[in-house]
Amino acid sequence: MKLLEYQAKELFGKYGIPAQKGVVVDSANGAAQKISAANLKFPVVVKAQVQIGGRGKAGGVRFADTPDEAAKLCGEMLGMNIRGLVTKQLLVVEKKDITREWYLSIMLDRYSKSPLLIFSPVGGMDIEETARTNADKIVKVPIDPLRGVEDYIITYAFDKTGADKQYRDQLKAMVEKLYRMFFDYYTMLVEINPLAIDDQGSLIALDGKVEVDDNALSLLPDITAFRGSLQEDPQVIEARNVNFLFIPVEEEGTIGVMSNGSGMLMSCIDLISQKKMSVHAALDLGGGATAERIAEAVRIMLSRPKIDTVFICIFGGITRCDEVAKGACLAMQKAEAAGKHLILRMEGTNKEAAAKIVASSGLPITVAEGIPNSVEAIYRLNQQKLSSSGKQGA
Ligand code: GDP
Ligand code: MN
Repeated sequence: MKLLEYQAKELFGKYGIPAQKGVVVDSANGAAQKISAANLKFPVVVKAQVQIGGRGKAGGVRFADTPDEAAKLCGEMLGMNIRGLVTKQLLVVEKKDITREWYLSIMLDRYSKSPLLIFSPVGGMDIEETARTNADKIVKVPIDPLRGVEDYIITYAFDKTGADKQYRDQLKAMVEKLYRMFFDYYTMLVEINPLAIDDQGSLIALDGKVEVDDNALSLLPDITAFRGSLQEDPQVIEARNVNFLFIPVEEEGTIGVMSNGSGMLMSCIDLISQKKMSVHAALDLGGGATAERIAEAVRIMLSRPKIDTVFICIFGGITRCDEVAKGACLAMQKAEAAGKHLILRMEGTNKEAAAKIVASSGLPITVAEGIPNSVEAIYRLNQQKLSSSGKQGA
């Protein structure tokens, strides 16, 4: 579960991580009154509360010099669409005078199987740009969970990035607080970007991102209480309404994987990732899917614009392969499937009949034997796509 900025900052408050004073506004009518009651120092920053980064670049972070201006901005920004998410709440905070923007986060790193500290003295809205062009300014250090945040971690972070050492003690204290929060709240990610240095030389969190592991929600009543104000992914809701489980995986991925079982889904995602390809979403069909349900599942997958390749991996017991094939064909005949490709791996009941259905359909569906071969087929498709887009570019 991804928290909104003001919710993340509420947690920061508990751990003594400083943030600007502010107030949440959820209606244009009450905005002026609420802002004046909060007794904020002007100028202020008005910030769209949506569970997505990059709000600044999308017009979701604006500045106001007077209470009137702030109230007017509230009217304009409530209801605003930011990369597909509707703004229902705004956070109005006192604008800080700052001298620098740093980046700090702790994430659960599956490769090192430990929390990973990521730090950069070149943070802010262009952190992705920094990662591309200035990679030596970003440091990643695993934190051994048995030892915690030891001195060497902070020393290394400063040495590696050339950050100004006068802030060493402050940063260490900040990392320790963030690290405690990371564990207490079963988070996958806690991020402060920018972690700013204000005109008094103090570190302050201007933004906050927290992702809590959904499996821990039953242990976290204060987080569960935030749920009402969060927006769920439309495909997650759509899928749940028809008893599928839709799992967004990587925002940048272009492959959709679906299967009748979560273990097989995970194996597929692992094999695809090992080939340095990236899965956008996974969908668990459950047992006994009919052609219509398969077609519906493919439709849900393809309603994500990023997905250009769908991989269906079926072990047919109760689920019949011929039904799967029919469903796949149904879905791929639709206009929204134009230009998309489907890889189908089926094993079990009526497998031969299924292969015939696909072969006679003339649709862009590749039938593959076994998961490794299927992943090979996806890889080849990907390579073709890359080389043809490369040619266009040249
Ligand atoms: P994001 O774009 O969704 O990550 O939103 P942020 O909360 O990080 O705000 C975007 C940018 O606005 C920051 O990187 C800062 O440059 C700027 N910003 C936000 N709050 C303040 C503030 O209080 N003072 C100043 N000077 N800049 C701010
Ligand atoms: Mn930010």
